[in-house]
Amino acid sequence: MKKVLFYILFIIILVIGMPIVFTNEFKTEEVSSNILFQDDMKFDYGDYSKIKLLHISTGEVEILDLDEYLIGVVASEMPASFDIEALKAQAVVARTYTIYQIKNGSKHENADVCDSSLCCQAWISKEDRFARWEEENKNEYWNKVVQSVNETKGKIIMYDGEPINALFHSNSGGQTELSINVWGGDIPYFQSVETSGEDEYSSYSSEVVLSKDTLIQKMLEKFSNFSIDFSKEDAIKILENTESGRIKKIKIGNTEISGVDARKIFELKSAKFNVQISEDNVIFTVQGYGHGVGLSQCGSDVLAKSGKKYDEIIKYYYKNVEISE
Ligand SMILES: [Zn+2]
Repeated sequence: MKKVLFYILFIIILVIGMPIVFTNEFKTEEVSSNILFQDDMKFDYGDYSKIKLLHISTGEVEILDLDEYLIGVVASEMPASFDIEALKAQAVVARTYTIYQIKNGSKHENADVCDSSLCCQAWISKEDRFARWEEENKNEYWNKVVQSVNETKGKIIMYDGEPINALFHSNSGGQTELSINVWGGDIPYFQSVETSGEDEYSSYSSEVVLSKDTLIQKMLEKFSNFSIDFSKEDAIKILENTESGRIKKIKIGNTEISGVDARKIFELKSAKFNVQISEDNVIFTVQGYGHGVGLSQCGSDVLAKSGKKYDEIIKYYYKNVEISE
């Protein structure tokens, strides 16, 4: 008899308990999908409140609120494991960059921006982002990204009353670069600054090893009368460095090229590199990742971890700028 009572009790507990378990699971799911973008996060950016985002892979144009769009940019452009103040700096930089792009003429006919890092800024949907994060980090990381955009809403980096061209890069290799050394234009708010500690990040060091034949092939694609005699001691010679330590001019065989061009031709992560010639190969040892102009993402994380707030980080990388209220 006692046994029967026990089983009845067990079944009652099971019947009452099951829905609680399921409801809880359902609730967790609901909460996590609700933090995408909420009405109370909306800010009036005037002409820039709505963004027409072109998805390169499908050709589809999606209309998003500016900050809703920025959540996908920050999620794609900076590791969410970085300090929240670095993520906030990235959010303000991405917002400023977006407005600058639109104000100065979109690169696209039917859209303001696209989702490619090679053209505008990288962007990722919540679904795709979640698919690439480890299960245990998903909600924490997503919330940090949303927080970085929400807590900086309305903030834009200004110089002389205008939004700046807020360029940024992954890792400065220790020192950022002046825009004049990359694109030729001398823009007053870019400066060359040092951040120590960027060598702690995996994007700091890289190496490209090319066979001598491959190097010749790559040079011939750009310079039809290229030649090189590897038996000469100065077959490849660095002629000039920029103040930040990047290559300004390098002589490869009979041809002089800029460090920026060398970066493109040999697909190096940055123009801050050294070259060695071995018996069969040419070895490029590279420091940093990206063009080096403006805000360094790894540098921002270093500064944030040393206690700097997002506005201090921004003012460290861009000279004489104000952050709008
Ligand atoms: Zn684009």
